[in-house]
Amino acid sequence: MKDPINLNGLTTLSVEEIGDEHLFTSIETPLKKDAFELSDSEKKVKIASLFEEIMDTLGLDLSDDSLKGTPERVAKMYVEEIFSGLNPQNKPKIALFDNKYQYNQMLLEKNITFYSNCEHHFVPIFGKVHVAYISSGKVIGLSKINRIVQYYAKRPQVQERLTIQIANELKQVLQTEDVAVIIDAKHLCVSSRGIKDESSATVTTYYDGAFNNPQKINELLQLINN
Ligand SMILES: [Zn+2]
Repeated sequence: MKDPINLNGLTTLSVEEIGDEHLFTSIETPLKKDAFELSDSEKKVKIASLFEEIMDTLGLDLSDDSLKGTPERVAKMYVEEIFSGLNPQNKPKIALFDNKYQYNQMLLEKNITFYSNCEHHFVPIFGKVHVAYISSGKVIGLSKINRIVQYYAKRPQVQERLTIQIANELKQVLQTEDVAVIIDAKHLCVSSRGIKDESSATVTTYYDGAFNNPQKINELLQLINN
């Protein structure tokens, strides 16, 4: 598998190299223009039939009682659960509140558990997200920060893009640049296949506004590690 493929800026690399190095081309999730022309039910029917073909090709006996419902289960799980964050209709509606207490220090929501899937291998990426911001006069409910994380996690992802997508959404919603996002995650495509490194973790960070300051970053890291 060393055929070069055509991607922006990745044209000289093979399919395997792009996957193993976890390279990506854009901050936006690459979606087709007609991504939502099919309804969710139509997608489930189509995916079930295609997945049945994959299983059949692998040589599995789909008349077996344990296997025969799998294509349908996978299709439902893809559309309704693990890839539901592709559809903008599932984006959480965020209400802003006035910061009545005039709390103008850092707010940190740490250890948000997430499950995502690597867009190169379609196997899980999971770990913790830490999100911090400084209010510009508006605040959001803490559960909404969690919902934003889950929405962007429920897509085929690369960890760097997930980090930036969460940060950009928070900056827009909270109307401030003072946002930090740290993700500490394990990639099953690294630990269970390929290089098979079981102990490594990947950490990505995004700091903007007031967090572009070594002192502020130190303060944040201390709070996270407490
Ligand atoms: Zn991967």
